[in-house]
Amino acid sequence: MTDWKLPWSASCLCGQVKMRITAPPMVAMACHCRACQKLTSGAYSLTLLIPEDGFAVIEGAPVIGGLHRAEIQHSFCPNCKNWLFSRPQGRPFVNFRPAMLGDSSWVQPYVESCVEDRLPGAVSGAKHAYEGFPPPGDYAKLMEGYAREGAKPE
Ligand SMILES: [Zn+2]
Ligand SMILES: [Zn+2]
Repeated sequence: MTDWKLPWSASCLCGQVKMRITAPPMVAMACHCRACQKLTSGAYSLTLLIPEDGFAVIEGAPVIGGLHRAEIQHSFCPNCKNWLFSRPQGRPFVNFRPAMLGDSSWVQPYVESCVEDRLPGAVSGAKHAYEGFPPPGDYAKLMEGYAREGAKPE
C-alpha cells in the first residue's frame, strides 16, 4: 500500500474545496460517453474509483450539479464550478476526478468505456477498451489487473 504514496491532497481550480484520499484507487478509467464530454467540456472524463472510507472533503462545501439524478450525484465547487467527484447511489466508492490531485502527473487510465462515442483523435492510452460500459462481472478482473500493473505515483 505504501507504493501509492498516500495520503493525496486535492483541490478544485479556485481552492475553495479541498479533498484528501487515504486509500488506493480500485481502478482508473476514462469515459468517452456523451454525458462525460458535456460534464468535462472535453473529450472524455478521467476517474479514480476510491473506496468510500478513503475519500473525504476536508474544506469547502461542494454542491450537486449535472443532471441531479438520484442514481448518481455529481459534486461541484460552488465557486469555480469544477466537477470534483460523483457518488453512484448504493456503491461503496466515489468516482473521483484525478485532475484535482496536487500531483496528477502519474495518472493513466487502465480501462476506457463508451469508445463507441469517442471523438476523433481522443486517445486515452487505456489498456482495456469497451464499446459501452464494462459488464459488472468484468470489474473484479479489471481491479485485480490494475492493482498489479496500473500506473502509480512516481
Ligand atoms: Zn473552486
Ligand atoms: Zn461517461
